[in-house]
Amino acid sequence: MDTKLYRIEDIEKDFKAIEEAAHLLRQGQLVAFPTETVYGLGANALDGQAVDRIFKAKGRPNDNPLIAHISKREDIEPLVLGVPAKVYPLIETFWPGPLTIILKKSSRVPAQTTAGLDTLAIRMPNHPVALAVIDKAGLPIAAPSANRSGKPSPTTAQHVLDDLNGRIPMILDGITPCSVGLESTVLDMSGGVPTILRPGAVTLEMLKEILGHVEVDKTVLKPLEKGQPPKSPGMKYIHYAPRAKVIIFRGTSLDRITKEVSRRAKEYVREGKKVGILATDETTHQYKGQDIISLGSRKNPASIAANLFSSLREFDDMGVDIILAEWVEEKGEGLAIMNRMVRAAGFRIIDA
Ligand code: AMP
Ligand code: MG
Repeated sequence: MDTKLYRIEDIEKDFKAIEEAAHLLRQGQLVAFPTETVYGLGANALDGQAVDRIFKAKGRPNDNPLIAHISKREDIEPLVLGVPAKVYPLIETFWPGPLTIILKKSSRVPAQTTAGLDTLAIRMPNHPVALAVIDKAGLPIAAPSANRSGKPSPTTAQHVLDDLNGRIPMILDGITPCSVGLESTVLDMSGGVPTILRPGAVTLEMLKEILGHVEVDKTVLKPLEKGQPPKSPGMKYIHYAPRAKVIIFRGTSLDRITKEVSRRAKEYVREGKKVGILATDETTHQYKGQDIISLGSRKNPASIAANLFSSLREFDDMGVDIILAEWVEEKGEGLAIMNRMVRAAGFRIIDA
C-alpha cells in the first residue's frame, strides 16, 4: 500500500487532510498523527478489526493493550463503568496532556483494544492535529506509538515513515513538534492505591500534590521477575531499542561516570567497534574522538526527555555498534527518562 504523507501548516487551511484522515479512521483504517508526546498510530478504538490492523502494522504482541485518545473530557464517560471522584481533579489539571488514566472499561470497548483486560487506558492529547483528527472522526482513537514494535518511539514524521512506509495509508505531520518526546505517564486509577505503571512528563511529584499517596510500580526501573504477572503488559517486552547495543553507566559522581565511559569507549574502539556516546551538556567536553550526542542539560530534564528517542535513532543512522549512555537522576522527569533508557539498554547497567 502507498503511504500518503500530509503536512498540516494550519488546521483551518489544511482541513481537507484532517477530513481525509477522519474518513479513513471511520472506515476502520489506520492514520499516524503527531501528539505532544510521540507520534501515534490511530484506529477506531471501538472497532476490534480496526484495532487488529494496528497490531499487525506495528508487529505488536497482541496482549499489549492500547490507549484510547479522546478530544473532549466528557467523552470519557461512555468508555468506562464510572469515573471515581478523585479522577476529576486529575483531568482538570492535566488534560489535555501527557497523563493516561486507567479505569474499569465499559462493554462498548472491544477486547482487542484492552488486550482482554477489564480496564481501559484513556488520555486527551495536547496537540492541535491530534485533537482535530479525533474530534472530526467523532470516535475514541486507540493510538500506540507509531513505530515498529520494540524500536524507539517516533518523534518526527520521518521516523514514522522509516518504520511504517507501505504498511499504513496515511501520516499527518506538522504544526508543532512532539514537545515532550516520551510517551504519557500511565496511572492506574481502577482501584486501590493510584499507581504509576509508566512514568512520563506528569511526574510522581505532580501527582502526589493532587492525590496524596501514589505508588510507583516496581517494574519501572527493574526487569520483571520470572513468573510475576505485569500490571502493565507493555513492560514485559523489549522496548525503545535501537539496533545498536546500549550500555548505561551509573555512578556516585559524574566524574566517575565520564571516566568509565571514556575507558570503555577506548576498549570498544580497539575491538573495532563504532562507539556513540550519549552525553549531557555538562559532560560532552570530557569525551574525545567518538561520535557524541548531547541530550541536553541535566538542569533541564525536559530537554533530555525530548531528545532521547531521536538521538537513539540518529546513532542507528550513523551506523554505531555500541551506545554508551550516562545515567541521569531519576527524580521528576528523570524517572521517565531512565525508565525508557534502561529498557533501550535491555537493563545493561554498569556501576562506575
Ligand atoms: P503505547 O501506546 O505503545 O505507548 O503503550 C501503552 C502502554 O500502556 C503499554 O505499556 C500498555 O501496557 C499500557 N496499558 C494500556 N492499557 C492498559 C491497561 N488497561 N492496563 C495496564 N496497562 C495498560
Ligand atoms: Mg510504544
